[in-house]
Amino acid sequence: KVPEGPLDIEIQHLVFQYEKDSRKVLNDISLSIPQGEKLAILGRSGSGKSTLASLIRGDLTPTNGNVVLAGIATEQIGDEISEYIGVIQQTPYLFHTTILNNLRIGNEQAEVAEVWEVLKRVGLEQLVENLPDGLNTMVDEAGLRFSGGERHRMALARILLKDVPIVLLDEPTVGLDPITEQALIDTFFEQLSEKTIIWITHHLQGIEKMQRVVFIEDGQLEMSGSPFEL
Ligand code: ATP
Ligand code: MG
Repeated sequence: KVPEGPLDIEIQHLVFQYEKDSRKVLNDISLSIPQGEKLAILGRSGSGKSTLASLIRGDLTPTNGNVVLAGIATEQIGDEISEYIGVIQQTPYLFHTTILNNLRIGNEQAEVAEVWEVLKRVGLEQLVENLPDGLNTMVDEAGLRFSGGERHRMALARILLKDVPIVLLDEPTVGLDPITEQALIDTFFEQLSEKTIIWITHHLQGIEKMQRVVFIEDGQLEMSGSPFEL
């Protein structure tokens, strides 16, 4: 099934347990995220944020309730969902192949000129230009050639090449120093301004750029408002 119309996300009375009879990690969460909204989901470590992200992506199936994208339950959309929702993880994964191949994951058709354009947008143009083999430089297994911030910029470049309408950022700046973090946040919001942004975080940096913040605690949404009210 393919979503049509506005890509609104509707989370309806969502309950999730990893195993039968285990604790309810999410316990009756309802939330509407209209297409284009900039939403922060704030909560302590272990509060269920990444679990919620996996449910939105359809990687997990709700124990009860639904996550619906444009009228279709996300777990029914299947692999097609990657056409609609992109994720930037805390530790973006890079593969042991060239920089070009790493960036084209999800959009193998992308022209080299397009790849350079995106590298410029994420602030990696110079770095890649200065490598002896440029775009054909091999990335080693762990992506160790790149710093944490650079890896996140690579992940952003991938998302921009793929041009998905909804981007889930799961603590994408954890472990970076404050200056690198702020620079990266600025780049994310500048480059993703047209898209739905779901920004998962356990601290406050960057949330002033969001339209709405919801708090998740003990598996429930506790509070919701604009970042300036909270
Ligand atoms: P953090 O800020 O540390 O990333 P989080 O809010 O993303 O935390 P989750 O990763 O969603 O939290 O985990 C919520 C709860 O679910 C935790 O108690 C965790 O131990 C549990 N949990 C997470 N993944 C699994 C799993 N695969 N199997 C069983 N329990 C899990
Ligand atoms: Mg998490």
